[in-house]
Amino acid sequence: MKIRALTLFPKMFDCINESILGRAIKNGILDFDAVDIRSFSKDKHQKCDDTPYGGGAGMVMTAQPIYDCINAVDPNHEYLRIYMSPKGERLSDGLCRELAINQNILLLCGHYEGVDQRVLDLCIDREVSIGDYVLSGGELAAMVVIDGVSRFVEGVLGSAVSHEDESFSDGLLEYPQYTRPPEFMGLKVPEVLLNGNHKEIDKFRRQKSAELTAERRPDLIKPDGEPR
Ligand code: SAM
Repeated sequence: MKIRALTLFPKMFDCINESILGRAIKNGILDFDAVDIRSFSKDKHQKCDDTPYGGGAGMVMTAQPIYDCINAVDPNHEYLRIYMSPKGERLSDGLCRELAINQNILLLCGHYEGVDQRVLDLCIDREVSIGDYVLSGGELAAMVVIDGVSRFVEGVLGSAVSHEDESFSDGLLEYPQYTRPPEFMGLKVPEVLLNGNHKEIDKFRRQKSAELTAERRPDLIKPDGEPR
């Protein structure tokens, strides 16, 4: 998968080279670049923001550098062009899976009070939010999308099945996990996990998963007790 993040702060994406995403980039499964919008500004001081028409606090990112940047990165509209925005569709497990089908994804990161609406109307296919709160910029939100989506790209996770056994994959929260030692600070690992009986272990995990979901996220469960 090819991912391009368009941003005024490309260094904010340096952390992508760590851990699972870093390995996927090294192995050529992900092809990532953070493109500096400022380098496309035609302003003599490479300015990329201005005061809002109609007044109000803060600055708005101007259309020209973003428009030129998008068209340089994606001249033939081969990328799904996403604007990171609190006004967008809320990111979910389902949306991550859906976005992972795309070969090419472009993520436009806003800053300040946001982006001139006209460049969104002209260039953007979708708007995605990572939740009902406002961040100071789209970069961290874009990183969340990249991480969440990449997990569904074949070869990114070590094992092809590992994202199928996570919270939300079957509509429920995941059961609690334990590892060595069998006892820590007086707390023991549930006996059933130590006996090697996989039928019993599956039953225990399903039950814990259902209990945890009912307790913490009743909205995920239908009145008949099944996941939504
Ligand atoms: N004035 C905008 C509003 O009230 O909707 C918020 C602008 S915010 C300070 C600056 C940028 O951060 C946005 O353009 C967007 O790219 C990004 N951003 C902020 N919150 C976000 C969220 N919840 N999800 C995705 N991106 C977000």
